[in-house]
Amino acid sequence: MRGLYQTDDNMIEIKSDFSGSIPGRYRIKWANIYMAMREETATQSDGKTHDYSCHFAFDLKNSGNTSESLYISFGCESVEEEMVYDALLYAAENTQNEFHRLKIFSKTDTFKKYHIPLTLEAGQTLYIANFYYRSHERLQKLFEYLAGMGKAVRVPNGKSIGCREFSCYRYGEPSSESLNVMISSGFHFPEGDTIATEKIMEHLSLPENRKKYADTVFHVIPKVNPDGFFYGYNGCNHAGFNLYWEFDENDTEKCPEVHYLWQYCLMARPNHYFDFHSYIFQLHRKKAFPYVKPLYFYQGALVRDKALEISRDLMAFCRGKQVCSFSTYAPSVLATKLTWVFNTVTFAKYHFALFDGIRESADLALKSFEAAMQHLQGMKAADWQKKDNLSWHFFRELMRIWVYQVRPFLVKVKNRIIN
Ligand SMILES: [Zn+2]
Repeated sequence: MRGLYQTDDNMIEIKSDFSGSIPGRYRIKWANIYMAMREETATQSDGKTHDYSCHFAFDLKNSGNTSESLYISFGCESVEEEMVYDALLYAAENTQNEFHRLKIFSKTDTFKKYHIPLTLEAGQTLYIANFYYRSHERLQKLFEYLAGMGKAVRVPNGKSIGCREFSCYRYGEPSSESLNVMISSGFHFPEGDTIATEKIMEHLSLPENRKKYADTVFHVIPKVNPDGFFYGYNGCNHAGFNLYWEFDENDTEKCPEVHYLWQYCLMARPNHYFDFHSYIFQLHRKKAFPYVKPLYFYQGALVRDKALEISRDLMAFCRGKQVCSFSTYAPSVLATKLTWVFNTVTFAKYHFALFDGIRESADLALKSFEAAMQHLQGMKAADWQKKDNLSWHFFRELMRIWVYQVRPFLVKVKNRIIN
């Protein structure tokens, strides 16, 4: 994609050919650039619609000899349209550099509309995004480095559709006794949630921490959707599947990434799972909170007690917020499948609000991780297999029927009536 705005003195170019660029459609009229978000098909899953087409990342280059003032409008027909919220934008002059908050006057409706007045100096190139952009290549190097520091083993077990390696970093040698803790990020590239796995991998690279967690095996998957990082997808993989909401472990053709992740889970048998995500363009509308599955999904009083203790801590860290709704046990997501098969205690998603700050969000991830580890101290994998009495068992089976049979049937009937 290539756009040009040319005057006698200047030439402004938009190339957006870097990995992770999300340029969307645009037209240029004088110094005004009218843009629209790149649309991906909204995901329909478990009777809900999820639209992730709310992100942009593109570059602007001024090849001229003088500075040039531009006015970028996203989703607006007119530059006059009023918006009241200060936009959260990130920018850098090179995609391999750290993106920093762009402190210019810019406005948004916190959905898909933006006004961005911008001045480009002579010869300047600026990469600009409405999310915390982290390049695929830079992250690849960073996680390899951190894994080396922590003596983690990279376990590649497959390739994405775009032939990018799907890999997990394993800390520790698994045994039948050891506790298995899985941590992931990067289901949705623009969310910038790799700050969490980065922070935890940094923590695990310290010798004293590896010693402290000697009985636990950690499985860290920083980029569940590697193609998303390369192609700049809002929420899907290379075949248009949203790997979080459409976790179809049997579809090796359209979502091999989840097939390999599930194969990995079958081997790792996680007892505990954190999956990090984040809000960013939503600004004040969204706060940090964990998804907390209702306790009756877990088997065994001890596991339920631990899940409750951890969730209380996480809720306290998130100003009393948590989500316990259907999304926490939707049948199409990995977290639900893990709990049914392995009785895994899951906090997936665990949503940050990057509006609170990048460093603060990373610290929240580490604090949550440490709190969970403290509660899980002394537990063994066998504790996850303890059986319940009949009444708990009966109640959970009722929930299983509701989640997998009754609710999908009701959603189907409702959709038929609406359509
Ligand atoms: Zn997400």
